[in-house]
Amino acid sequence: MNESFLCPVCGCECLPLDVVDFNKSCEERKGKFLALAQIPVYFVLCRECSFCFAPDFSNWKLEEFREKIYNDEYVLVDPEYIEIRPRANAKNLISMFGIGSNSIKHLDYGGGDGLLARLLQETGWQSTSYDPFVNLYTPIDHLGKFDLITAFEVFEHVPDVPALMRNLDKLLAANGIVLFSTLVSDENIGANQRINWWYASPRNGHISLFSKRSLAILAKKYDFNFGSFSVGLHVFWKEVPPWASHLIRIPSQAKGS
Ligand SMILES: [Zn+2]
Repeated sequence: MNESFLCPVCGCECLPLDVVDFNKSCEERKGKFLALAQIPVYFVLCRECSFCFAPDFSNWKLEEFREKIYNDEYVLVDPEYIEIRPRANAKNLISMFGIGSNSIKHLDYGGGDGLLARLLQETGWQSTSYDPFVNLYTPIDHLGKFDLITAFEVFEHVPDVPALMRNLDKLLAANGIVLFSTLVSDENIGANQRINWWYASPRNGHISLFSKRSLAILAKKYDFNFGSFSVGLHVFWKEVPPWASHLIRIPSQAKGS
């Protein structure tokens, strides 16, 4: 691997970090291993913002992802995505924002087959689901604007980070928020060390691994504020809407910090 790559987050140089087998999956942390695919997947690391990604996937078409990753066997490496995770996320969102008693327009971005949106609709939410890997032919311009966009376990799957940010920017209403989950890599990935992190798993489609700094840089670039509730749950916003003021406190999470 002699090519050099520029970081899609900050534009700086990325250096080769490590190589893993295509079949490395998140289930390995539970002791479940797939047979080796014998396909090497290289990860590179940005020297500046520590964004880590697998450049091989940058040129994949959506159809290729569906054929090789989000296929019938995907459930074996992410058994919770069909039902357990959407149900847990619906419960958390209702506890955060209440049961459909408000006029929040919600979009679940990367929502798979749309279970989370359906569960929320049942409680009276105005909820829509959109997934670039499922709704291949839905132009996002037709979706409208949303007050609350959720993107649970989405960012790490994205082969084109600037395209994701442009989409979120386009879909978010003026004083809306993007609530998203992705594990930050800070304690797990660094220069001059091998990748031992379970989350860095190509078979799960985990190809873009964000450090906290890379999320902050990304937010600033698209004129969002950025804050984290934990290592896995984060928020982008431009202006805090009244219905989210109990969650986002300023100035403790200053712009772009
Ligand atoms: Zn970078």
